[in-house]
Amino acid sequence: MLPYELKVLEELVSINTDSIKKCGYEECASLISERMKEIGLKVEVFDPVGLTGDGKKRPNVVGTLDLGADGTLGLLTHYDVVPPGEGWKRDPFSLTVEGDRAYGRGAADDKSAIAASLGALSRIGEKGKYNVKLIASPDEEVGGRWGIGYVINDLNLRLDCGVVVDAMPDMVCVGASGIVQGEVLVRGIQGHAGYPHRSDNPIPKLASLIREFESFARFRERKLSKIDAPPGSPNKKLWGRFSFTIVGGGEKENIIPSNAWTRFDMRVLPDEPVDEAKLELIDFFNRTRERLGIDAELRIMLEDKGFLTPPEHPFVEVFLKATASVFGAPLPLGASLGGDDGKFLASKGIPVVSYGAIAEDSHFHGTDEFVYIRDLMHLRDVLVKLIS
Ligand SMILES: [Zn+2]
Repeated sequence: MLPYELKVLEELVSINTDSIKKCGYEECASLISERMKEIGLKVEVFDPVGLTGDGKKRPNVVGTLDLGADGTLGLLTHYDVVPPGEGWKRDPFSLTVEGDRAYGRGAADDKSAIAASLGALSRIGEKGKYNVKLIASPDEEVGGRWGIGYVINDLNLRLDCGVVVDAMPDMVCVGASGIVQGEVLVRGIQGHAGYPHRSDNPIPKLASLIREFESFARFRERKLSKIDAPPGSPNKKLWGRFSFTIVGGGEKENIIPSNAWTRFDMRVLPDEPVDEAKLELIDFFNRTRERLGIDAELRIMLEDKGFLTPPEHPFVEVFLKATASVFGAPLPLGASLGGDDGKFLASKGIPVVSYGAIAEDSHFHGTDEFVYIRDLMHLRDVLVKLIS
């Protein structure tokens, strides 16, 4: 006999909720609604179908449990998954339990969160520290504008604190890095490759500019946050990162191109102002361009600030206490190296932590994704301790 959480996980995994095709969304949302109602939640479904322009349904399911408390806790989960891809040894859409693992697409990311949250809420009595809104959204894997983004930004849900149940089991995450992305373009003079003396090749110039930026990347690495990096990182504290990620220019072997370009991705500390980091980048670029004597420009294409819920915030303390009563000692506190949906709540000033059952080796987004059954049960237990 499977425990309740695994039975629910089995049902969820059996519905392909591919975020690219947007299939199975309605079926999965109605399954979640049913399971919520069975354990006494009041269910509302919010679908932005008239707003998105593509006519596709994206039901966001919100289940409310009133526990007679003053504040409301949001549990944020998502039911969409990335496509299975090729090379699975097991059926991605049928939960396979082997030893301490349960395999299937979404078994970890993020259907484990829905199963564990339902399991937790089914065990809470009449009273709790918080009233709870369990939110199950689609479209997380494609940016979340009409999933969690819609629920938090467009609906007037009142939340006093939140847990993004879509994260690692061995750390409580209270922040994420900011991001600055852009392009560096180097101009030259186009011409026939047989007559290089009549043109000005931008490619070697771009190459020397890229090499000079190695010292900027090292300068960024020396920036350290006050918050820890995830366990297993090369630095104890979260650090600044700068990488070139795309390079391009030219169309034909016998033509020296008129320009060459590269794009970059810079990660800004959660507790570092994005504008300050951007100015340092622009200043370094300008000085290097002048020193090398090249015609180049830098264009910022995207910027987003990070977030940090202060580690000393009472909600973080309550959350850590919940982990301590499950594991015997509080879990380590840190910030994410990548993105984190906590930004949706943080931008509203709502204290948020991220925690989940997605182990680093769980092959999330890969083949034969699995969740450790112990992580699923621990997640449920932490939520029970947090709420009751
Ligand atoms: Zn996820």
